[in-house]
Amino acid sequence: MTDLSFSLSGHTVLITGAAGGIGSALVVAFCEAGANVVATDTNREALTRALADHGDNGSVLALAMDVTEEEQISAVLDTVTQRFGRLDILINNAGIKSSESLLTGNRGKIERTMKINTDAVLLCSRLAVRRFIKNGAGRIINIGSSLSSQGAVFNYQAGGADYCLSKAVVHDITKLLAYECAQHRITVNGIAPGIIDTPMHGRPREETEARHHGRIPLGRVGNPEDLVGLAVFLASPAADYITGQMIHVNGGMLMNG
Ligand code: NAP
Repeated sequence: MTDLSFSLSGHTVLITGAAGGIGSALVVAFCEAGANVVATDTNREALTRALADHGDNGSVLALAMDVTEEEQISAVLDTVTQRFGRLDILINNAGIKSSESLLTGNRGKIERTMKINTDAVLLCSRLAVRRFIKNGAGRIINIGSSLSSQGAVFNYQAGGADYCLSKAVVHDITKLLAYECAQHRITVNGIAPGIIDTPMHGRPREETEARHHGRIPLGRVGNPEDLVGLAVFLASPAADYITGQMIHVNGGMLMNG
């Protein structure tokens, strides 16, 4: 029987890129769902500031972790085990924006985009899965992007080809890992946000709204809070039988072709 509980009480979640717009909203949502929350980002001071801005009173375990550094990830996973006994949920949220052309773009920048947005998702997942297998269960939620599956014209207006490529591979990693992990009772799903108003865009909301005017059927760009209910659901017992899915949260944007 499927457990219809949405509570994450007693579950421990590790969120990467937790100082950012979507990451800090995820922290708040998972706290509200009753989880033990481990918030990580490259810059611990920025992380602590972001959590304080979101009303954290010290209940969240905030740790510095660069998602491209295997030693740092392993150290954080060890700390999680010492502090909470086990990790139940990994959210691969850290990412960077980039706007390089695949043909003429700067190779170093393209490689950095792929390293942070793509390779690190696999790296963090591999290290977490080793522990999930010992526990006999686990959840991974990857943050992809609706841009990965949009037509080229929109991609080049809204982001860059290297960004879209990096996220397209995350969508494939999600499905491929889900298949490999299923035998271990580990589910792997993804959320593909549309245009969400966060620091990543580097401009005021009104400018983002104007830029994408007419492209989003629900008539506005998204907020980080538009995504987090789905993340909590995918992490909860109620989603036990869902794996290998990439769910778009984009105000209906893809319906515009
Ligand atoms: P954000 O506000 O810029 O947050 C991203 C966070 O990731 C930042 O705190 C950033 O730290 C951190 N980060 C960057 N490189 C890292 C690394 N190597 N190790 C650990 N943390 C690192 O952006 P966001 O909009 O919340 O984005 C969150 C995720 O959603 C990203 O994967 C993004 O691609 C995805 N997404 C966003 C949108 C959107 O419209 N906002 C749409 C689709 C998908 P620094 O600031 O110090 O670099």
